[in-house]
Amino acid sequence: MATTSCDVAIVGAGLGGCFLALLLGRRGRHVVVIEQGPSVPSAGADFLKPPGLRVLARHGLADLVGRRGLRRDIIRYYHDGDPIQECHYPEGGFLIRPYRELVELIYTSCAMEGVDFWFDASIDDIAMGDGRVEELTLADGRRLRAGVVIGADGTKSAVRQALGIEQRTMPYERLLMRVATVPLSASVAQLNRLYFSSEGWLAYLYPINMDEARVFVGLPPEDDKEIFQDGIPALLDELKKFVTESSDAFNALQPATWQRIKVSSLRVDAYHKGNAALLGSAAFACHPMTGMGMSYTLHDAEILADVICAAAGDAELLDRLLYARYEPRRHAHRQLIDYGDALAATFRDRAAYLSAFRPDLHIHGRTAAPEVMPALQLA
Ligand SMILES: Cc1cc2nc3c(=O)[nH]c(=O)nc-3n(C[C@H](O)[C@H](O)[C@H](O)COP(=O)(O)OP(=O)(O)OC[C@H]3O[C@@H](n4cnc5c(N)ncnc54)[C@H](O)[C@@H]3O)c2cc1C
Repeated sequence: MATTSCDVAIVGAGLGGCFLALLLGRRGRHVVVIEQGPSVPSAGADFLKPPGLRVLARHGLADLVGRRGLRRDIIRYYHDGDPIQECHYPEGGFLIRPYRELVELIYTSCAMEGVDFWFDASIDDIAMGDGRVEELTLADGRRLRAGVVIGADGTKSAVRQALGIEQRTMPYERLLMRVATVPLSASVAQLNRLYFSSEGWLAYLYPINMDEARVFVGLPPEDDKEIFQDGIPALLDELKKFVTESSDAFNALQPATWQRIKVSSLRVDAYHKGNAALLGSAAFACHPMTGMGMSYTLHDAEILADVICAAAGDAELLDRLLYARYEPRRHAHRQLIDYGDALAATFRDRAAYLSAFRPDLHIHGRTAAPEVMPALQLA
């Protein structure tokens, strides 16, 4: 079968892969995106926080993604039923848009830039030579040669494995997560509410459009069998203990389909090797309580696009630029992962959680003056 050549091969058509493809396509690079699924991925994040919105705005995409999404500017936090703080998002707040819709918009924009997408394409072999990726072979025999290869292929990244980059995955073992999509109720339409309990439970309720809401429930693994697997109607009894201002949503929860979500943090020892680099969940994963994975990934894609274009096909320069401009992102990601770990470790304990909580990171993606209202002002 024929070999295709391109400037950049991107493995994975998630948010990171699609956004990088768009940026490179706009700058005239020939990009091929290889995706193992039949389309862009459907499962994932719902919240795009201000830092990610700013990245999209820099590339003229703010209106496109914001047009039909929901805007919110407050999240209220509760502990054992009491409101403990509100996080306020200035300047237009954050966007709620289901992951698939968001990625599809970026993917659709790629068509205008001549990016090639190969769907249902699984990788059979990644040939390495001299510390560089030389060729990708697909299961159907197609071959792809690229000046630069990006592994945007999620937490189990085949590109990362081919590069021999070590990873450390840490499942959040004390907090099993389930999610359901239910009809929207008045309290959920009014405000995003995130509840924690000292018994190790959490519940997060928010709208995803004008008709539906998403409900995340986190619970100790030993409670999961009784609540979700044996079909015992004990979920509401548990939630009533600490979910105090969302009871109008309860009726919809019992009949809902609850999917289990595996949540782990992931750290790796390097973000690039020779002509290949890792992006998005192939490079790092943090606890979703930070709500920042997509924002960081969009900014990383921006840096990668600049580096790839600046190197202009010079392999040595590419390696040096990746080292100087992309590898330092590991530091920012490490802080985010540590922060997610701290939230997951403290949410049972009100005082410990409040002292671990960093509003600056939720709002700006960095340290800044706190913009959080303590419980006293909520009364
Ligand atoms: C439960 C949960 C909730 C989250 N909520 C938020 C949130 O609210 N806000 C936020 O900012 N972040 C959130 N995140 C993080 C966010 O989802 C990630 O940061 C983001 O999706 C990473 O994008 P990615 O490009 O790595 O995409 P992914 O969606 O991981 O895409 C990887 C793609 O690669 C493909 N692929 C894998 N292997 C291969 C292969 N061998 N060949 C070809 N294709 C392959 C997959 O099919 C997939 O399409 C959440 C994460 C989780 C787990």
